[in-house]
Amino acid sequence: MRIRSIGSKLTVWYTSLLTLTFLLLGGITYGLLAYSLSRDMDFALNGVAEVLAENARIEGNVFVPSDVDELFRRFFGFSPLDRQIELFDPRGQLERQQKDRNNSLNIPLSPEAMQGAAQGISTFETVKTDEIYPIRVLTVPILKSGRVINLVRVGMSLENMYKTRRRFLLIMAAVFPLGLLLAGGGGWLLARRALRPVDEMTQTAQRISGEHLDQRLQESGNGDELDRLAGTLNDMLGRLDDAIHQMRQFSADASHELQTPLTILKGEMEVALLKQRSPEEYQRVLLSGLEEIDRINHLVSGLLLLARADAGVLRLDLQTVDLKELCRDVCEQMDSIAKTRSIDLQSGDMNPVIIQGDREHLRRLLLNLVDNALKYTSVGGSVRLTLKTSGTWALLEIADSGIGLSLEEQKKIFNRFHRATEARSSDGKGVGLGLSIALSIAEAHGGRIAVASIPGQGSTFSVHLPVTSG
Ligand code: ADP
Repeated sequence: MRIRSIGSKLTVWYTSLLTLTFLLLGGITYGLLAYSLSRDMDFALNGVAEVLAENARIEGNVFVPSDVDELFRRFFGFSPLDRQIELFDPRGQLERQQKDRNNSLNIPLSPEAMQGAAQGISTFETVKTDEIYPIRVLTVPILKSGRVINLVRVGMSLENMYKTRRRFLLIMAAVFPLGLLLAGGGGWLLARRALRPVDEMTQTAQRISGEHLDQRLQESGNGDELDRLAGTLNDMLGRLDDAIHQMRQFSADASHELQTPLTILKGEMEVALLKQRSPEEYQRVLLSGLEEIDRINHLVSGLLLLARADAGVLRLDLQTVDLKELCRDVCEQMDSIAKTRSIDLQSGDMNPVIIQGDREHLRRLLLNLVDNALKYTSVGGSVRLTLKTSGTWALLEIADSGIGLSLEEQKKIFNRFHRATEARSSDGKGVGLGLSIALSIAEAHGGRIAVASIPGQGSTFSVHLPVTSG
């Protein structure tokens, strides 16, 4: 089964980690407990054996008094001193054992113990007997004048140690699931609480559609990850909202600009058809119709270019372009328009610059800028074109002594269908796409366009295009 909710996933991960931690810690604690229990036992055995050996060496007596042992056994059912003590001769024959005890080991000395004793070393062993629990035994040699005179063996049942270990395991088995249940439940509640804002965000996001992009996710303002996520999503929604708004505005403007020449065309034809006309009159109507069709054509080709540039599929027919020559061409082409307005159109400083680009697109870019410069410069003014290289860039400048642009306007003129107020009143022909198209062409070539202007004094449009070797 696949878990879909993050809360449940977190809880499963958390509980699994906790189980592992519990098991690891439990294992380590159990190991330490077992180790310290057996160390204590060996220590106790060693203590008793040492005392007995010392006693035997001095007094020849090896047995602890049994009354204390008895007392423990009567009240508690066992005695911490409950141990078997046996005395062997150096050859390993049993000499004596604790008299009042019937639970002697009844097992011979092991060869290891004998060997150890011969070298004067004490030997610890764990011995299995008929009893349920094994016995831990310590064999200690009793030395006198460097000679082994006897061996004392002290044995102790591992019953208590095994029981303590089992009790520990039982406690762990009871506490472990309980702890896990509590911690897992707590973890699940915490995860649910922490993720509640995500649920709320999901619900709000589901309500937001193209029609309601003005809605925003609620931000808690506490600066945590979820708050920052909500903020980021809100910023994104804001940008989407703007983009959709611009798209709608663009469609509305484009439809409007297309509708105007079509309405004129239709109106002129309807008027012409109202009565019989002379061939000259028909010719005039047809010529005017052609003008409108040209306008529509120009607008549609501009819109197409922008749409392709937006989609990143503007095809550039790359070839070697001599920018100086192109500037001269454009100046010649625009010269008659300049003359009709008595504007001095000149190419100033022109350094030869060769770039790789699409000649026709670059011509359109230049024509748009020069056309603007002429359109927004009053009679008797001047327009200058200069060309030079600046680092790895070709820098083309079109400076006019025209109406200029305020700072506010400079920021907006590259927007589609944007026209400054002065432009609207001074010229009825433009639609506000010329600069957007010029910018798209420059960008498709890896370049950019900037404007510097002083209202009433003129503007300079600078086109940067990358110069490629060859
Ligand atoms: P259009 O010229 O068709 O209106 P453009 O996109 O070419 O559209 O230009 C957008 C606006 O930028 C123009 O309406 C005008 O207000 C402003 N503009 C462009 N070029 C100049 C210029 N050389 N001097 C002053 N204003 C300009």
